[in-house]
Amino acid sequence: MTKPKIYEGGCLCGHIRFIATGPAHKPHTCSCRLCQRHSGALTQMWVEFSQDQVQWTGPGRTPSMWRSSEWSSRAFCSVCGSTIGAIDDKPTLALAIGIFDSPNRHELAPQSHSYISKRPKWWGIHNPSKT
Ligand SMILES: [Zn+2]
Ligand SMILES: [Zn+2]
Repeated sequence: MTKPKIYEGGCLCGHIRFIATGPAHKPHTCSCRLCQRHSGALTQMWVEFSQDQVQWTGPGRTPSMWRSSEWSSRAFCSVCGSTIGAIDDKPTLALAIGIFDSPNRHELAPQSHSYISKRPKWWGIHNPSKT
């Protein structure tokens, strides 16, 4: 049996930290308006886990949340304001790949792009699903 992959990461100030146990699901980018406003970036990069794969290990324990839709909340650090993820009512949680300690892992490469039409036309995005 192969050992499950472990992912660690956290916010800018270290108040919110996580350990996620693989497998990591559905790495993707999203340029919807919610993701843009939540992250401040034109395109956000996400990877999904089920909630029982993720432990919150920093001194702040679970991130602060803001209800962004009927089924999901946006998670952030209340101290430094870093974007952490999107936590659905269950079972899925998406973490922003930019907060991972080691994002340079091949299995985190985005496989699809959601809401690509919402990005400015001058914003070029590597989109593996179109190649
Ligand atoms: Zn923080
Ligand atoms: Zn989005």
